[in-house]
Amino acid sequence: MTLAHDWRTARPAPELLHLDSAAAGRSSTAVLDAVAAHLRREAVTGAYVAASAAEPSIAAARAGLAQLLGRAPEDVAFVESATVAFAVLLRALRLPVGAAVWVTPGEYGPNLAALAAHELAVRPLAVTDAVGHLDLAALERALAAGPPALVHLCQLGSHRGVVQPVAQALALCRAAGVPVVVDAAQALGHVGTDTGADAVYATSRKWLAGPRGVGVLAVAPSLGLDAAALESSEAFVAGRIGLGVAVAEHLALVPSRVHEALADIGARARGTLDGVAGWRVVEPHGEPSATTTLAPPPGWSDAGVERARERLLVEHRVLVTLAAPGRAPLEATRTVLRVAPHLDTDDADLDGVARALVAVS
Ligand SMILES: *Cc1c(COP(=O)(O)O)cnc(C)c1O
Repeated sequence: MTLAHDWRTARPAPELLHLDSAAAGRSSTAVLDAVAAHLRREAVTGAYVAASAAEPSIAAARAGLAQLLGRAPEDVAFVESATVAFAVLLRALRLPVGAAVWVTPGEYGPNLAALAAHELAVRPLAVTDAVGHLDLAALERALAAGPPALVHLCQLGSHRGVVQPVAQALALCRAAGVPVVVDAAQALGHVGTDTGADAVYATSRKWLAGPRGVGVLAVAPSLGLDAAALESSEAFVAGRIGLGVAVAEHLALVPSRVHEALADIGARARGTLDGVAGWRVVEPHGEPSATTTLAPPPGWSDAGVERARERLLVEHRVLVTLAAPGRAPLEATRTVLRVAPHLDTDDADLDGVARALVAVS
């Protein structure tokens, strides 16, 4: 059986063309059932009794995430979202006011706000091209000239499907004694996240298609933080159990096969959609991700893009994301459409998107 078939048949049939996995993936029936079953146990046996009984499931979820994030299970903390994970991490790191933090220009807007709230001195790193790939040679020179307190890398963008060379950047930073934190919110379940970063955080609901309301933070022992102390105590336990099921499903499909298949779908989506009715694909067609962003034809306003997104949904039953520049304010200059296909998206679906784009343009 193919990955596409396995992915499609594992979840309820969609009522529309769902191309929104970068916002929230479609959970499998097994994930939905696990969440519902735990919620029912809470009502039947009491929530804390149910939580105790579910400890093996939570431990399995933690072990699976540890494997995906390249850490030991005891280094993994459950929180509510990627945003919460980064907030918890920043509080725990206690960087002094004014400490230098380097980011790529494609850094996620809310992360920049969190760094600013801690009064850290954020500096964007040099890139090699118009889509914002990190310039590793420039990073090496900058580290030699004077290392920052921290490098924060958004492995895969929210505003476009560009994948950063995290492993190579990490090697350079490690040699310079600089810790690296990785935002893997778009990367987990999509590209390899077993990079060995000092800290990495992500969210359940996007490419892994786990439940909403669950996030994860993994910290290396080198940071001297106690992961257990970073974990939220009051929690959506059913969601953590559901995430564990989604992780087990992902591991069963074999992560490297999923990553390759998603990159292939991205290449096909870009090839099909680039130039349709004047829309242009932002990423290089071979970028190893599925996320495909479309800039509108010349002369279109951001409001026009917003209307197109709405018409795609209402008139054509095609669900894509509206991505405003606030997602990456140092880099993005205009609102784009983000098409986020998953393993079940086939060529007929992509042709359908192309036809719908023509109709709304
Ligand atoms: C979605 C996203 C986040 C935030 O994740 P939440 O779980 O919504 O808090 C952070 N960074 C990137 C790159 C994202 O795409």
